[in-house]
Amino acid sequence: MSFSLDGKTALVTGANTGIGQAIAVAMGAAGARVICAGRSSCAQTVELIADARELTLDFADPMAARDAFSDEPIDILVNNAGIIRRGDSVDFTEADWDDVMDVNLKAVFFTCQAFARAVLARNGSGKIVNIASLLSFQGGIRVPSYTAAKHGVAGLTKILTNEWAAKGINVNAIAPGYIETNNTEALRADPERNKAILERIPAGRWGDAKDIAGTAVFLSSPAADYIHGAVLNVDGGWLAR
Ligand code: NAP
Repeated sequence: MSFSLDGKTALVTGANTGIGQAIAVAMGAAGARVICAGRSSCAQTVELIADARELTLDFADPMAARDAFSDEPIDILVNNAGIIRRGDSVDFTEADWDDVMDVNLKAVFFTCQAFARAVLARNGSGKIVNIASLLSFQGGIRVPSYTAAKHGVAGLTKILTNEWAAKGINVNAIAPGYIETNNTEALRADPERNKAILERIPAGRWGDAKDIAGTAVFLSSPAADYIHGAVLNVDGGWLAR
């Protein structure tokens, strides 16, 4: 059994900041060559990794990754890129629905598809880690398209497992709890929401992006070879309440 990613190549989407950056750096520390993909420059992340390069991928086009896996064998895909739009459901706009669905769900499916096509074409094996959310299990507040998309990510993780587990591809997801990143800035800036959230987290603190990174490395490693279709919550105990 091994937790090492030596000799593996990993592609991480949204690797310029937040959870994606922490995952990319941890993958590198575990021995992987890392392709840091994003719509913004990932130069800062690349500098933190021994063997890494940048790739521009903007999921405003959900099919953006269609050719991302054809140049070299890629063993690990982390679908991390995501956006959130907040608004009451009675006022929610079609644009806030479509933008979130495109990046958080449609792009995840078609990036998984492009990855799997490349792995299957070379009779190889691979690991997919999708970044889901507590809102893959719960309703959330004022984030209808985000909740729908993240429930969808959990569902995709399971259907793709059913299709690809026997073909050498592990598909799993991580459901992060409340993590200090740009994504949650608005919540932390609202003293009432911040207090209510903190009071419910058994660990008594917001999560750090690094708290998610170790789980992503584990799910990408040989130690997780028999883990298929899991949506693993890393949430300071939130869902245990
Ligand atoms: P973040 O700091 O806002 O990072 C989001 C990443 O996604 C950024 O790299 C962003 O790039 C990228 N991205 C957004 N739209 C994109 C597009 N059209 N094409 C390519 N990349 C795009 O937030 P984060 O918290 O690290 O989020 C990472 C993932 O974790 C997301 O899927 C999020 O839903 C999930 N998550 C976060 C939390 C939390 O508490 N923070 C909890 C559960 C799940 P730019 O910097 O260029 O915008």
